[in-house]
Amino acid sequence: MSNPVLTMIPGPTPVHERVLEALAQPTVSHQSPGFVEAYRRCLARWPEIGRAAAAQPFVVSGSGTLAMEMALVNLVAPGERILAVSHGFFGDRWEQIAEAFGVQCDVLRADWGRAVEPAQLAHRLEGADYAAVAVTHVDTSTGTEAPVAEYAALLEARDAFLILDGVCATAGIDERFDDWRLDVLLTGAQKAFGAPPGVAIQLVSQRALERRRGRGKVSAYNADWLRWLPVMQDPAKYFSTPPVNQILALDAAMELVLEEGLDARFERHRKLAASIRQGFSELGLELFTDRSCRADTLSVVLHRDGVDDAAFRAAMAEQGVVVAAALGPIAGSAFRVGHMGNIGDAEIERTLAALRVALG
Ligand SMILES: *Cc1c(COP(=O)(O)O)cnc(C)c1O
Repeated sequence: MSNPVLTMIPGPTPVHERVLEALAQPTVSHQSPGFVEAYRRCLARWPEIGRAAAAQPFVVSGSGTLAMEMALVNLVAPGERILAVSHGFFGDRWEQIAEAFGVQCDVLRADWGRAVEPAQLAHRLEGADYAAVAVTHVDTSTGTEAPVAEYAALLEARDAFLILDGVCATAGIDERFDDWRLDVLLTGAQKAFGAPPGVAIQLVSQRALERRRGRGKVSAYNADWLRWLPVMQDPAKYFSTPPVNQILALDAAMELVLEEGLDARFERHRKLAASIRQGFSELGLELFTDRSCRADTLSVVLHRDGVDDAAFRAAMAEQGVVVAAALGPIAGSAFRVGHMGNIGDAEIERTLAALRVALG
């Protein structure tokens, strides 16, 4: 990719030319046959990417946070209790969303940079009656990848719905909707899919849809799965105008994912993570995240002693490479580099070259 500014943050990620071309098409009616076909393809491809046989896809205007909110408001009634397994800033966000809807929320929190042990989750589930358990696959604030398969095994014999926030993982790290018996897998277009921001993406199990149907009214209108379901089943129908160009772009991004092949794509992410980390190490930079739970999609990198974070990131930007600040307790003492989506060796090299200059 030949973008003059290389955006190496944990989303939005660099957008491939083919996706940009799709985005730049003249805007057409949301009911034109060409657009309806593209929307239909998006909806059909998404379960394939999530490795789901019978899940219901939802692709609507919005961001990852809207997808989180939709999952909660459709599945969980006010007064019910959920458990958020939190590995940082985005895991903690569940508590705020729950509060907004009168849902009780317990949080099982790991120390920043470490993962909640499956045994801790097992312990927390004992005797508890959660309506849903929400897990962040990769928390973008800490670079932590959750051991989702192990968590899922603990939930197998329970009624609790399992919601997986894949915003920093989906299409970059393997996710298995059916094998893990997920009820909602959610993401946004702008992270490992490598599409521009603006689309909220969910896969919903039939069991979860049944739960929504059994609830009568929910505290949502535009975020109500049942308002959108007819459109998801037949995108020629209208409920609220879809983001026409963004869906054309997502369609192109999903096509790139499937052309590359899921396994090859995940392997590329593994290799890019290893190669940028080799480069960090040669520069004397250490990672914040514990070795046991480092995600392939981003790195949270500790600053060397005495480095001013804002000045460092400005120096990187001068080299044409944008990296992100760290959040929460590590703000100022670390920075974050996204390495997901449609990037390759050239972008990793360019980032490392900029780092060499910025760090002098
Ligand atoms: C980015 C992110 C979100 C929020 O997505 P927005 O599109 O910014 O609303 C939620 N969860 C995780 C893990 C993320 O990385």
